[in-house]
Amino acid sequence: MSVLVKPCSFCNKPVAKGSGTMLVKNDGTVFWFCSSKCKKNMLVLKRDPRRLKWTNRYVKGGIKVKK
Ligand SMILES: [Zn+2]
Repeated sequence: MSVLVKPCSFCNKPVAKGSGTMLVKNDGTVFWFCSSKCKKNMLVLKRDPRRLKWTNRYVKGGIKVKK
């Protein structure tokens, strides 16, 4: 992957540098978001990208929860 492209922290789709949003948390964690949709889902709605079909992280059939 090129230096100019980062994977979106939520949906894992490539984000070209200069587009999308970069968010640095106080603890130094860097998030890249391709859109405000991803940002909202991660930070406001706190959704799991593996449960959402429109993300590249989606796990078919859902995540297996360990009991
Ligand atoms: Zn995204």
